[in-house]
Amino acid sequence: MNVVRSAEELRIEVAAARSARGRVAFVPTMGALHEGHLSLLRAARNRADLVVLSIFVNPLQFGPEEDFDAYPRDEARDLELARAEGCDVVFLPPVESVHPPGRVTSVHVAGPLTETLEGESRPGHFDGVATVVAALFNLVMPDLAIFGQKDAQQVAVVRRMTEDLAWPIEIVVCPTVRADDGLALSSRNRYLSPKERDQAVAVVSALRAGEAALRAGGTIAEAEVAMADRLAAAPEVVCDYARAVDAETFEAPTAGRPVLLAIAATVGRARLIDNVVVQ
Ligand code: AMP
Repeated sequence: MNVVRSAEELRIEVAAARSARGRVAFVPTMGALHEGHLSLLRAARNRADLVVLSIFVNPLQFGPEEDFDAYPRDEARDLELARAEGCDVVFLPPVESVHPPGRVTSVHVAGPLTETLEGESRPGHFDGVATVVAALFNLVMPDLAIFGQKDAQQVAVVRRMTEDLAWPIEIVVCPTVRADDGLALSSRNRYLSPKERDQAVAVVSALRAGEAALRAGGTIAEAEVAMADRLAAAPEVVCDYARAVDAETFEAPTAGRPVLLAIAATVGRARLIDNVVVQ
């Protein structure tokens, strides 16, 4: 496994695989790797000849009051885990390699995909995501890029951008990896105290309550109430939103189309997001 920090070194690594006509898979992350990230690396390994992992805590996608400084960073452990998964190249760029000083260009995906849910709660977040993913795609030029369903809205934004900009990159989405009690794995779970960790499971039980309401023939409003009620029963869990939207467009759901149930909640210092799709 080669660890590279500059765009030039990265290009050399990728060019070697390309000249052998290999397929290049790319897994972008912010590090503090857990089983969710590792599942993406395995999916990459199964589909490609060269697996490139990036670890980059992207300042652009954090708001001024958010946890950029506190975000967990554990390079040595991440490299060990990546090596164990058979990753070929780890790209650990300094900020200037991804966002050149004086940068005035950003990528904006317009409409409900970026204006609802996370977009509404975290203004500018998806501009930061789209801009960094665009820069990383240009640096790596992968054949496929692998993302987690855990960040469903991010996937929708990246898909749209990739289609709109006509990049020949296949976007692959892997299921959310969960702890035994159902809590979605997240680098931010490290912020939780034992008591908060116990209560955080309310996020997934609320999603399941919403799903059960829909499957029992309930309305969208009833599903949202079912989620809110379940969250309200956990005093440490402060709900930001518990919503049902169209799983593709992120607009109001319409009959016969898949519904995305999505929750964001703060538990102690951790802002947690999770979702399920109900067909
Ligand atoms: P992050 O490092 O949190 O920015 O996430 C990097 C990638 O890992 C994104 O595509 C996430 O959707 C994905 N990811 C994060 N948590 C999980 C999880 N629990 N299961 C599957 N994928 C995940």
